[in-house]
Amino acid sequence: MSPHSDKVCYSAVMMGTRIELHLSEHRPELATEVFRRIKYMEDLLTVNRPQSQLMSVNQAAGKHPVRVSAPVFTLIARAHRASLEGGCFNLAIGPLVRCWKIGFSGDRVPQAEALAALLPLTDPRAIVLNAADCSVFLTRAGMSVDAGAIAKGYMADLICDYLASQSVTRAMINLGGNIRVMTPAGESGWKVGLQRPFGRSDQLLGVITTDNSSVVTSGVYERYFVAQGKHYHHILDPRSGYPLDNDLLSVTVISPLSIDGEILSTQLYGMGLERGCLWLTTRPDIDAIFVTRDRQVVVPAQRRFSLQRLPWPEGITPAQG
Ligand code: ADP
Ligand code: MG
Repeated sequence: MSPHSDKVCYSAVMMGTRIELHLSEHRPELATEVFRRIKYMEDLLTVNRPQSQLMSVNQAAGKHPVRVSAPVFTLIARAHRASLEGGCFNLAIGPLVRCWKIGFSGDRVPQAEALAALLPLTDPRAIVLNAADCSVFLTRAGMSVDAGAIAKGYMADLICDYLASQSVTRAMINLGGNIRVMTPAGESGWKVGLQRPFGRSDQLLGVITTDNSSVVTSGVYERYFVAQGKHYHHILDPRSGYPLDNDLLSVTVISPLSIDGEILSTQLYGMGLERGCLWLTTRPDIDAIFVTRDRQVVVPAQRRFSLQRLPWPEGITPAQG
């Protein structure tokens, strides 16, 4: 954790990524507590280690319900509701994620039969939740839940609730590109970079200015591997078992809550450009920025943010960054 001057920034490497907390004044104890809370939630939600509350749920699949703590139950219940909507987002995607291992060592294209055999294990209707005792039951052996798409956003929301309870009114929490900002009424918003797909993190397609919002991106360039010239990325289609294949390189969602942004960035990615734009007309509280494979930056509406565009250098294809 290293505080800088001016607007104070505390940072730490956690969850395999860089976490930053920006405050307008030096509050080291508060920052320490924020990082402690993130570590605590990570320990509950990780599926990359043998032990966590989510791993206990997964290990009991087909056997018995497992009680989890209230914040974990709240997250699972929210993600379960979204999974039942039948779009691309699916909390029960775990068996497919483990099979592909995208972003981890051992990634390779699985056999089609192996993927087909896993599809029945990703049915969110086979998850039974009991709010009375905060228990979760994966009713089929081999099922597993994966919070990789949503954990950081949920943590960002919990951290903003905590900051508000400590009378902080101006802050930015950045969990590896999952961002939530807080701005007092009348003050200028925060600037957030819109990353160029496959570019370095400082190579931007634009600068987003927003206040009291979350900014979350799902993209095909975050974690992927290439086999026989084909690019396999980490957003999987729960219906086919393969990475989602469409006209988009990334979807950035600007929303009040980061958990919603996380779920929606996956859902909108799955919808593709046309259906995604149509869906947004039904939700005036949500904005999105689509970056397409043919290098268009599509901004259907700017209700929660403004965007300063930066050029995509000529001659550089999206795959080159
Ligand atoms: P990042 O981890 O780069 O922020 P995302 O938020 O888009 O990216 O989440 C991708 C992760 O979500 C994958 O690595 C995997 O763990 C999980 N995942 C993959 N496909 C789905 C899906 N269809 N529904 C829910 N989670 C998914
Ligand atoms: Mg996400």
